[in-house]
Amino acid sequence: MNTTPTVRCLIVGSGPAGYTAAIYASRANLSPVLFEGIQPGGQLTTTTDVENFPGYPNGITGTELMMDLRAQAERFGADIKPGLVTDIDFSSKPYKVTVDGTESYLAHAIIISTGATAKYLGLEDEKKYNGMGVSACATCDGFFYRNKVVAVVGGGDTACEEAIYLSSLASKVYLIVRKPYLRASKVMQDRVMKNEKIEILFEHNTVGLFGENGVEGAHLVYRKGEADEKMVDIAIDGFFLAIGHTPNTDLVKGVVDLDEQGYIKTIEGSPKTNVPGVFAAGDVADPHYRQAITAAGSGCKAAIEVERYLSENEL
Ligand code: NDP
Repeated sequence: MNTTPTVRCLIVGSGPAGYTAAIYASRANLSPVLFEGIQPGGQLTTTTDVENFPGYPNGITGTELMMDLRAQAERFGADIKPGLVTDIDFSSKPYKVTVDGTESYLAHAIIISTGATAKYLGLEDEKKYNGMGVSACATCDGFFYRNKVVAVVGGGDTACEEAIYLSSLASKVYLIVRKPYLRASKVMQDRVMKNEKIEILFEHNTVGLFGENGVEGAHLVYRKGEADEKMVDIAIDGFFLAIGHTPNTDLVKGVVDLDEQGYIKTIEGSPKTNVPGVFAAGDVADPHYRQAITAAGSGCKAAIEVERYLSENEL
C-alpha cells in the first residue's frame, strides 16, 4: 500500500515569498505544506531592521517580520515543516518530493521560493562583521549610513546602482572594482562617474576589514600581483557587497527553464514556469527587484495561480 502523503500545494522555501504563498494557499483551502529549508525565514533573518516593508511605520526586525508572516500562515492552517527539500522527481504527476533525503511527498502543485544567495568575497572578516557594518543589500541597510562613509564592492550594474543609492545617504562612497574598468552598462557607468560623492578605486581588491566594535575600515591591495602592488587602507563605516547573487535553483535545474543568469524563467511576468503545476516566486525568479515586498507579492500571485491550476485540472 502506498502511504506517501499527497499534498495539493507544496511550497519550498520560507522567505517572504514562501510564507505569503502559504497565507494565500491556506486561506484558499489548499492545505499547503511548506518546507522551511536550512535557513527558516530566509535572507531577511540575516539583516537587522526592515524599514521599507509597508505596514510597519516604526520598522521591524527581519526575524520578527518573518515570524509574523509564519504565524499568519499557520493561523489559516498552513502546515509549516522543518526540513530541506533535497529532490523533486518531475517525471510523473503528482511530482515526488524528497525531504532531507528520506521522507517523500507527492505534490499536485509546487511553488519554488528558494530565494537567492548574495555572493560574498569569502573573507573571514565578512563573517566577523556580519550585521556590524557588512551588508549585501544597500536598499535594506543604506539608511543606517546617513552622512557616513561606505564602500561598495563590484563593478556591475548592481554595484553601480547600490553606489548611486548610497550616495544619496552617505557622505562618501568608495566603489571598489577589481578590474581597470566597470562591467556595468554605459548609462550606469556615466551616472557613477558623474557622481561627486562616489570615488572609484579601480584595480583594488579587498583583503580584510578592521574595527573595534564594527567596521572602521578596509585593507585593500592595489594591482595585486603586479610590480607596483601596494596595500591601501580606507576608513569606512559600512562595507557593501554587490558582486552578484546566486539563485537557488539546484532542485529544478535541467527541468524548469532558467534564464542566462540562472534565474527561473516565468511565463509572461506570471509565476508560471514551463512545467505545468510548478510555479516560482521571490528572488529565485527575480534578478531585478529582490525586495521583501516584491517577493511577498509574487508569493501571493503564485498561490492564486496554484488555486486556478488545481481547479482547472480538478485536483
Ligand atoms: P554582475 O555579474 O554583472 O557583476 C558582478 C561584479 O562583481 C563584476 O564587476 C565582477 O567583477 C565583480 N566581482 C565578482 N566577483 C568578485 C570578487 N570576488 N571580487 C571583486 N569583484 C568581484 O552582477 P550584477 O549583480 O551587477 O548584475 C547581474 C545582472 O543583473 C547583470 O546582467 C546586470 O546587468 C543586471 N542588473 C541590471 C540592473 C538594471 O538594469 N537596472 C540593475 C542590477 C543588475 P568583474 O567585472 O571583474 O568580473
